[in-house]
Amino acid sequence: MDIAGKNIVITGGGRGMGKQFAVDLKELGGKPYVVDVIQESLDELKSETGISGKVVDVTNEADVEAFFESYTAENGAPDVLINNAGITADAIFVRKKEEEIKKFPVANWDKVIAVNLKGVFLCGREAAAQMVKHGVKGLIINISSISRAGNFGQTNYSATKAGVDAMTVTWAKELARPGIRVAAIAPGYIMTEMVAKIDQKVLDKIIAQIPVGRLGEMKEISRSAQFIIECDFVNGRTIEVDGGHRI
Ligand code: NDP
Repeated sequence: MDIAGKNIVITGGGRGMGKQFAVDLKELGGKPYVVDVIQESLDELKSETGISGKVVDVTNEADVEAFFESYTAENGAPDVLINNAGITADAIFVRKKEEEIKKFPVANWDKVIAVNLKGVFLCGREAAAQMVKHGVKGLIINISSISRAGNFGQTNYSATKAGVDAMTVTWAKELARPGIRVAAIAPGYIMTEMVAKIDQKVLDKIIAQIPVGRLGEMKEISRSAQFIIECDFVNGRTIEVDGGHRI
């Protein structure tokens, strides 16, 4: 698929990697549109880059449905969805601290499942519904993670990212008939605000395990998205972009 002139919806695009996708794809002639939860991020994006967006909570079925309806009425169906919105809420599964057994809080489980799994499911479903309805042979790119393999302190996040991979394969099979491709990117540790929250000592240990000896750049993940859009033979697979890091 050529990027030029294509309708590209990016979730969680107000900052971080999603914003980078939007900026880079606009530069390549695409028509990015961003959804996010914070109006100020969208205002900033608009004034910095001219890219428009709307506040949509990807975990809310009615809001997601209404957004894809109104977006399509205004612009036509999306050609590409980048299912990028994702959060972390790390904790240890079970541990003993001063004779007390500490358990993984179910609130952390619920909120990460809501954004990273239900949000990806809802946005994927609604984007695909509009593509099918309007005969658009589109593309869905899901953002997975190196943590899909199972990462210390990330029971919830790892489970969601493994789930994202499974949905990618399932949708690629089911949406083949209407000509929609589905693929995913599993980034390693990338220098974003999400990673900046990690304690520096922990981050140094992580970097020591990355064969290329550094964190990834957001632009490097954005180039992977560009490749998936342009290469029509990529389908039903997760592309790993992680500097050779294995967790
Ligand atoms: P950021 O936290 O920088 O950006 C995520 C964006 O998603 C934020 O703007 C956030 O809004 C938004 N968001 C959160 N919840 C919702 C919601 N319910 N509805 C709509 N938007 C929402 O994350 P990154 O750019 O680092 O990560 C982007 C994706 O890449 C995620 O899926 C993440 O799991 C994945 N990833 C990141 C890696 C990394 O190293 N950074 C590595 C591997 C994967 P708000 O401003 O309120 O937080």
